[in-house]
Amino acid sequence: MILLGSERSVTQNYATHKTAEDYSGSHLSPIKISGTGKVTRVVNHYQVHEDSINYNDYLKNQYNWRDGDYYNCVSITGKTVRFHKNELGGNCVEVEGYIGGELYHYTMFHMASTNVQVGDIVNSDTILGYQGNTGLVDSSKSRTDITYGTHVHMEVKNGSGQFVNPRAFALGEEVLTYVEQTNAVDTSQDQIYILADKVNIREQPTVDSKDLGDVYHQEIYTILDTKDDVSYTWYKIKTNLDLIGWVASSKEEQWIEVRKKEQSSVPPEEPAVDLGEYLHLFTCPKTDTYYLTLQEGESLYIKKKNT
Ligand SMILES: [Zn+2]
Repeated sequence: MILLGSERSVTQNYATHKTAEDYSGSHLSPIKISGTGKVTRVVNHYQVHEDSINYNDYLKNQYNWRDGDYYNCVSITGKTVRFHKNELGGNCVEVEGYIGGELYHYTMFHMASTNVQVGDIVNSDTILGYQGNTGLVDSSKSRTDITYGTHVHMEVKNGSGQFVNPRAFALGEEVLTYVEQTNAVDTSQDQIYILADKVNIREQPTVDSKDLGDVYHQEIYTILDTKDDVSYTWYKIKTNLDLIGWVASSKEEQWIEVRKKEQSSVPPEEPAVDLGEYLHLFTCPKTDTYYLTLQEGESLYIKKKNT
């Protein structure tokens, strides 16, 4: 199944909608994409129908509803729903992948609920979420109808961050492929492990340098160089897609964990120790959680059975 076909049709096209297209379809029907990609963003804390905001109400009240980066909206069911300004599209899933070597980002909005986590590799069989009406929607239906305004709003951005017409992607004429950008684990090198959901890759080790892309939670990169400034430690990396740049770890928050190379890739030889009534079992090669937590270099002995 693809996003757009016999089950969904275009209700608002790219020329009119500018940055996206809207697709009809059955309320709560599964949403899938064509090809393979990686989930890079998920919003899933809004309630279907209850947290539907009529778009015209929003236009009328947006200045009254605004509270800093948030909007305290009144939903079609009369409930006050607090939306971050970036979450007015309701529940959504963003997926990235490649077409002809170029990185694309797909985002599907207004979902009833989502079904994936950031970092998941998804394909044409994966249900990303279910069609719904969370966030700003418009409809001629009665507001008591739980299917009020149900649709899929799809946005596609290219590698330069520009919106492109989503039609060919929704029709499955353009198929996403996913290439793993992360380096492999290499214990003979100092590497970083990404703890944050997402960290920018910059051309130079400064926050206002050109944004080349992102690294994601659980990815690993070999450190090519480091640089320290007042707020950040910067690590130079090269992705498996040959992108070279710098990622920062804030000194306040731990976005990145450094994994120091192991001194030797050969495990230390177990010393032959026999302390009379104790039998040497194990010498800890590395601080980690075993059945017991041992510090590096500590040994474990067991009392011999009386013979
Ligand atoms: Zn739309």
